[in-house]
This record gives sequence, C-alpha cells and structure tokens, in this order.
Amino acid sequence: MQDLSTPISQIALLKQKLLSTKSALAEITDDRNSKLKTLVQFINHLSLACKGQHLELDNKLAKLRHNLNNFEQIDDALPELMDIERLLKNSYNHTKLKLEDSRQGLIRVIRQIQRVNSAPDKLKKEIGYAKQDLDKPFHTIWDYIPKVEQLIGFYESILAQDLKGADNYQILPQHIQLAKELAQKISEIEFRKEQRDQVLVLKEVLLSDISLSSLLESYQTVLCLLLDNIAREKTASEDFLYALNDALSIVRDVVNNSHNHNQRSQQIKAQLNQEINLRVDNADGILIETSDLTELKTQLTIQLSSLRDALTRKESLEEREQAVLRKSIEAMRKELANITNEANSYKEQLFEHQKLNLLDPLTQLANRAALEDKMEQEYRHHKRFNTPLWIAVIDIDHFKSINDNFGHSTGDKTLQVIAMALKNSLRESEFVARYGGEEFVLLLPDVTELHISQLLNRVREKIKNIPFKFKNQRITVTLSIGAAQVLENELCTETFERADAALYKAKNNGRDRVVIEV
Ligand code: GH3
Ligand code: MG
Ligand code: MG
Repeated sequence: MQDLSTPISQIALLKQKLLSTKSALAEITDDRNSKLKTLVQFINHLSLACKGQHLELDNKLAKLRHNLNNFEQIDDALPELMDIERLLKNSYNHTKLKLEDSRQGLIRVIRQIQRVNSAPDKLKKEIGYAKQDLDKPFHTIWDYIPKVEQLIGFYESILAQDLKGADNYQILPQHIQLAKELAQKISEIEFRKEQRDQVLVLKEVLLSDISLSSLLESYQTVLCLLLDNIAREKTASEDFLYALNDALSIVRDVVNNSHNHNQRSQQIKAQLNQEINLRVDNADGILIETSDLTELKTQLTIQLSSLRDALTRKESLEEREQAVLRKSIEAMRKELANITNEANSYKEQLFEHQKLNLLDPLTQLANRAALEDKMEQEYRHHKRFNTPLWIAVIDIDHFKSINDNFGHSTGDKTLQVIAMALKNSLRESEFVARYGGEEFVLLLPDVTELHISQLLNRVREKIKNIPFKFKNQRITVTLSIGAAQVLENELCTETFERADAALYKAKNNGRDRVVIEV
C-alpha cells in the first residue's frame, strides 16, 4: 500500500504544479499580449507619422497596419517588417544626403549674399554669423527651414536697402579697384594748400565702402581740382605775358616819342646853327665892309645880340632835350623794374612747381623723376672719375598686411616714418627716392665692395628697430634689399635691373635681408 500511495500523491502534486504553471503561463501570455498590443498600437502611430515620405513605404506601412490589427498574424507580418526596415534605412540615408545637399546649397547662397557690397555693416556681420552657423551639420529638416527663412530675411533687407537708393547701382570689384587707384593717384599729385583738406576727405571716401555714385562724384571732384590748377597755371603765364607786352608797348612809345622829339630837335638845332653861322658871317662882312666906327659898332651890336639870342635858344633847346631824355629814361627804368619784379615772381612760381614736381608728396622724398635725373648725374660722375657707384632697391616686407589689418592711413604714416628714417640713415652724398608704392631706391657713390653690405644691413636694422605700435600691438616692419654695383661698360638701367633681381632673391630667401648682386 505504501508503494501505491506514493505515486498517487506524486501525481496529485504534479497536477497541482501543472495547474499553477498553466495559470502562470496564462498570466504571462496576457501580459505579453497586452504589451504586444501597446507595441502594435505604437507601430501603428509610428507608421502613420512616417507617412508622406515615400509612396512604396506608405503602401507597405498600410499593409503592415492592416496585418497587425490581428496580432495572431504577427508572424505573417515578419517578412513585411524586414522589407520596411530596408526601406526605412534607405530613406534615412537619403534624407541625410538631402540634408547635407541643402546645407551646402545654403552655404553657396550665403556666399553670394556676402558679395553684395551695398549691405550695411550690421547686416554683413549678421550674415557672417549665419554663415558660421551653417558649418554645423543639419540633423533634421526642421534645422533647415529656419535657416532658409533667415536667408530670405537677408535678401529682403538688402532689397529694401537697394530700393531705398534706387539709383545706387551695384558696386563691382573693378569699381573698388578703380577707387583704390584713384586714391593712389591723388596721393601722388601735389595739390594747392587750400585743396589738401578736400583731397584728404576724398581719399578717405575712396578707401572706405564706396558707392558707385560717390565714385563718380570723386572723379568729378578730382577733375575739377585739376582743371582749376591748370587754369590758374595758365592765368599766371598769361598775366605775365600781358604784363610783358604792356611794358614793351610803353618802352616802344617812349622810344618812338624820344626818336620823334630828337628828329625835331635836330632840325631846330640845324636851323639855329645855320642862323649862328649866318650871324658870324654877317659880322665878318660888316668888319670888312664898314669903315665908319660908329656904324660898325651899331651893326656889330645888332649881329651879336641876334647871335646871343640864337645861342640862348639853342641852350634852352638842349636843356629841353635833356629833360625829355631824362623823363624817357626814368619811364623806361620804371617799366624795367616792374617787369623784373613780375619775372622774378613768375620764376619763383616756376621753381616751386619744378621742385614740387620732383618731390613725392606723401613722404617728401625725391620721386621717380628726380631719381632718374640724379641717376644720370651720378652715372656721368662715375664714368668721368671712375669712382664706385651702387644702386640698391628696397621693398617693405608684407606691407599689404599693415594696410589690411590697420587701415590705409596707418599704412601711409608707416611709409612716412620709414622714408624719414631712410633719409636720416644716409650721408649727404647718398641719395634716396621713393620709387613707387612701398619701394625705395638708394644711390650710393664712393662705397667699396667691402662696406656695401655693412651699410645696407645697418639701414635694414635701423628700420627693424623702429618701435611701431598699431592698435596697442607692437609691430616690427622689415625690409628686403637688393643691391648691385655699376660695372664697367654697363648702363645704369642694367645695374638697376640686377639690383631688382637681387631684391627678388632676398624676398625668396625669406625677406628681412640684404642680397648683393656680384
Ligand atoms: P612683399 O613682402 O612680397 O613685398 O609683400 P607686400 O605685401 O609688401 O607686397 P605687395 O606688392 O603684395 O603689396 C604692396 C602693398 O603696398 C599693396 C598696396 O596697397 C600698398 N601700398 C602701395 N602704395 C601705398 C601707399 O601709398 N599707401 C599705403 N597705405 N599703401 C600702399
Ligand atoms: Mg612691392
Ligand atoms: Mg612689399
């Protein structure tokens, strides 16, 4: 019995375990079904949210939603799910590429907007920031839309600005180049003192953000200033010629008058001489013919009195002649003094102009024309006395960056300081000219081959040690120098070319150095 009762109780136990396992399984199934239901609902919503991207995907998702309505058929939906997963993956990659394309497109557009020079500075800054923002990748389509709206905003602002000044045509890079060239040209021309302030303002305008209409106005102003100077020059020469002409007419009249007067005086004098001779002859005749002493006395007294009379008239005639002559001489002397004064002031003006024509207005150094004269002169001296002559060409290193970083007028001041320092570092017999831009030329006579490098390095160091300070920043300005000696049978233009080639080498070898061409 014992043996039989044991299996029965074991079966009962197993049955009970089975029952409890069954109920646990039912619980798990319920739970799973409820989670699955939530998941299916979620997939339903998700698939609806994905709708509208791709037709094939939309169809598949509709079919999936249908199949998932009955989750007994969930296994049937599995191959569909794999398909959809593939489509979703493709769609994700496609979207990513499209977003990147769109970002690049926006960068291109913003670059174009940046080229619109008429945009006000504030807007330009905003555009700059927006461009920086575009460096970050887009993650969703929603990143893209506000950027597009922002760009449209920029376009609108620029358009509004352009419409405001409807006749402000767009300024192109070549216009900016023209403005720069005009600024450069007017720096090279010597204007009259009273014109200089106007020229300074003009230069500022030309070198800042200029509009096309102000560029045209600037051209007109420069033209008017130049025409005014030419007219003045012309008037000054004309005035002088008129004065000379007037003086010559006066002198001619005086000479004519005294010539006429002289002729008349000669005639009268001849008559008087005739009369005097006649009186003397008469007296002779009376002496011979008259024997009566009383009669003789009477006759002679008459003749002598006539003679005295004629002599008095002759004397007064001569006095009058002297007076007229004195007056003429006085008038001529006065005219001569006038015309000499006139000529002197004209000469001074010419001299001033000549001097100015040979000076560079910005640095007050000799200009290129003066350099050419001096070079000829030194070359002749070198040929005649066989003394050494060196030509050195100097170029400031990276000068453009001074203009770019600190502005053109700081660039101008730097040029002035360097020019002065160059001039001060030379001896009396040595010559420096501003050749153009940021280039200078030295003519160095009587320097031996031993000393040239020492001399030029001293000049280089001197400029390098000038303590320039721009915007509170200590800046060192360096020079590159090329030099060559005039060789036997060489033209000085050829020496100049060799010096220039040496300068080129100095630049290529790292700047801030002297290269001597041997
Ligand atoms: P490098 O070392 O090769 O000589 O470089 P760089 O920048 O000095 O040479 P580059 O020839 O590129 O530039 C010369 C600059 O000098 C450009 C021009 O704007 C400037 N410049 C020329 N004349 C003047 C002037 O009268 N005033 C000012 N402020 N700048 C000038
Ligand atoms: Mg240069
Ligand atoms: Mg330079």
